[in-house]
Amino acid sequence: MGKYLDRKCRLCRREGTKLFLKGERCLGPKCPIERKGAVSPGMQGTRRRRTRLSEYALQLREKQKMKRFYALQERQFRNYFQKAKKLGGATGSTLVQMLEGRLDNIVYRLGFVSSRLQARQIISHGHILVDGKRVDIPSFQVKVGQVITLTSASLKMPAVLEALGKKEIELPDWLERKAAVGRVKRLVSRPEVEADINEQAVIEFYSR
Ligand code: SF4
Repeated sequence: MGKYLDRKCRLCRREGTKLFLKGERCLGPKCPIERKGAVSPGMQGTRRRRTRLSEYALQLREKQKMKRFYALQERQFRNYFQKAKKLGGATGSTLVQMLEGRLDNIVYRLGFVSSRLQARQIISHGHILVDGKRVDIPSFQVKVGQVITLTSASLKMPAVLEALGKKEIELPDWLERKAAVGRVKRLVSRPEVEADINEQAVIEFYSR
């Protein structure tokens, strides 16, 4: 019997890149991509990668990758594209700014937890305050200047304790944090998001 590969890790290997869906495990040597490289799961993986993909298939893969990176469902992700398009300007940059501005993403980027899925969980359970008020909606759009705080109850949660206990975190320049309090200093610009995503291909996919 083949070795069991976690469902989330299969998504990363399917997209050929690390999507950071498993918290701490993603940063260590246990990550399958660190051990085996970014090949598709299954016995046909290596062969499938060698097949030349059509333009449509490439755009579809980029869309799937970006959607999975932000841990969203298809309907939610498409809605973000439509909103970004309506706002005018560079749709790709607006799309990335909106996704990065989600409360679950910011809680993750602040290093309060180790994955967007964990962030979503603590938000849904009422452990995050925005400007002192409880916000339990992971998709809440955080504005520049708003202050994000962990509740005192959340400071006893193992996932939060582990994340806060890290000696070093890679805090993005557009955010600031002191212990359990973070703040959005300014809007993020696209080059600052070091994700292996191609938002232009995503726009082309939805514009077909
Ligand atoms: Fe699994 Fe995380 Fe590695 Fe993706 S990045 S393969 S979710 S451990």
